[in-house]
Amino acid sequence: MTTTPEPRSDAPLTAPGEILHVGAADYPGLDEWRSLPLSQQPDWRGHEDFDSAYAELSAHPPLVFAGEVDKLKRRLAKVANGEAFLLQGGDCAETFDGVTADRISAKIKTILQMAVVLTYGASLPVVKMGRMAGQYAKPRSSDVETRDGVTLPTFRGEIVNGFEFTEESRVPDPKRMVAAYHKSAATLNLVRAFTEGGFADLRAVQQWNKGFMQNPAHARYEQLAGEIDRAVRFMEACGADFEGLKRTEFYAAHEALLLDYERALTRIDSRTGKPYVTSGHFVWIGERTRELEGAHMDYLSRVQNPVGVKLGPSTTPETVLQIIEKLDPEREPGRLTFIVRMGASNVREKLPALVTAVRDSGAKVVWVTDPMHGNTITADNGYKTRRFDDILDEVRGFFEVHRSLGTYPGGLHVEMTGDDVAECLGGSDVVDESAFDQRYESLVDPRLNHKQSLELAFLVAESLTQVR
Ligand code: PEP
Ligand code: MN
Repeated sequence: MTTTPEPRSDAPLTAPGEILHVGAADYPGLDEWRSLPLSQQPDWRGHEDFDSAYAELSAHPPLVFAGEVDKLKRRLAKVANGEAFLLQGGDCAETFDGVTADRISAKIKTILQMAVVLTYGASLPVVKMGRMAGQYAKPRSSDVETRDGVTLPTFRGEIVNGFEFTEESRVPDPKRMVAAYHKSAATLNLVRAFTEGGFADLRAVQQWNKGFMQNPAHARYEQLAGEIDRAVRFMEACGADFEGLKRTEFYAAHEALLLDYERALTRIDSRTGKPYVTSGHFVWIGERTRELEGAHMDYLSRVQNPVGVKLGPSTTPETVLQIIEKLDPEREPGRLTFIVRMGASNVREKLPALVTAVRDSGAKVVWVTDPMHGNTITADNGYKTRRFDDILDEVRGFFEVHRSLGTYPGGLHVEMTGDDVAECLGGSDVVDESAFDQRYESLVDPRLNHKQSLELAFLVAESLTQVR
């Protein structure tokens, strides 16, 4: 019989039987990361508000529950097995101002539309996940930024400091972790309402396109939505039960970069006595913080959530096998996802050795393509951008590699928005550099707009059909 820790008398029971705010304070090993190399963090431990912010977060209810996290792991096990597909999408960096009903609903709608294209196109269940409700911390290539002779701390995402280039805004402020928690709670609340309260009802599939200008991607979606609508009506006429179409599961994911935030939101599940990161269902380790002996690897090796690791072009097969050993020693299906971001010019050459090593080791991981982060360029007018053609090319390369090795290309990870921004170049409704001054909004990396996102979903649906 296993025993679970007794709740502290002042511990709020936020979800009885699911997860309790207990024990994480002294759970063995959970603070090991503090003695390991830890990169990409603000220097704020001595800040006068650090302790109170950390204590406040530690006392707040979890944003997600252990039971949901376990369910997601079961879904991802299906993906690892080739029986479902994973779609991850959202901003590079969420912003506090971006937490509005319009923006959140446009993003969810776009992800749901992409999922419909994939589900219908490839006849596969799609696990839907937003880079949402916690995607506030960013790794940066430099600790400082200099403009006109003035040097200030670099912008690390709104959970750490402000984007505005002033001393006041750039000094890291631990209270922002608490603000990010509340923004995430508000986001998740709307996500849950939308996806469980009828908005995601597949019978409304045609309405999700309303309000968008006509263009080839929308026309194609419109046609597909019409086919689904007819199929649904036919089934309805036959007396079929559509309870299952009314709501959908939608999971929250972000990069587990800021370990003070993740640690403060770690809770012990009362059912199993094990620690879960409760800031989101799925968390990943970025390309810049995935050192095997580093703090991030250690921390995520100790929690139960499904975790992802980004793999850039310099990754070796040995490293990949060591990551599996570290994060998934039990070879638990659904636990580990590799998010490949090699760049269109590298993926065909460099991915096969990694996939072969993993396949031959017998480990079952989820393979996801992130066709964004290896294809970033600077436009002539200074904007950070990506060519839509490079993005498509990396996705094609990813599918080709898996097809030739007989392995399963399990998912797509994109930076996108539901709004009509101009941040990535190209697409069937061409975005060019001259549009950046008017419609470039991202604070960090360029995102696909609504049309480009749909267009990509159609390409992936086709590629997936061929693989299967
Ligand atoms: C990101 O996903 O925004 C990111 C920084 O990615 P990577 O770690 O792959 O560079
Ligand atoms: Mn990014």
